[in-house]
Amino acid sequence: MSVKTFKQEKVGCNLLEAGKAQPFVPGTKPELQPVWDKDLCVRCALCYLYCPDAAISRQEDEYFDVDDKLCTGCGICHRECWFGAISMQEVD
Ligand code: SF4
Ligand code: SF4
Repeated sequence: MSVKTFKQEKVGCNLLEAGKAQPFVPGTKPELQPVWDKDLCVRCALCYLYCPDAAISRQEDEYFDVDDKLCTGCGICHRECWFGAISMQEVD
């Protein structure tokens, strides 16, 4: 296996591929998922950097959102946001 250089690695992620957190199966629904409050978000990107499964991406409006198929509901983004902009809410 070839070793990736710093410039080739995704920022803030140790994963080589998204959706590989275990034992969560990508595509299955977690009990909780993050919901963003744009009025509180300062777009610092900490949630994006800390998400262990690369489930968060920057949207066209510069704010962040989650990919439902990759999110495990771990709550790390919620805990790392200093501004209280992310709440964990039950998935329907
Ligand atoms: S960590 Fe919080 S304030 Fe920073 S971009 Fe994410 S939601 Fe916004
Ligand atoms: S809860 Fe947040 S940190 Fe955890 S996988 Fe989902 S988006 Fe990433």
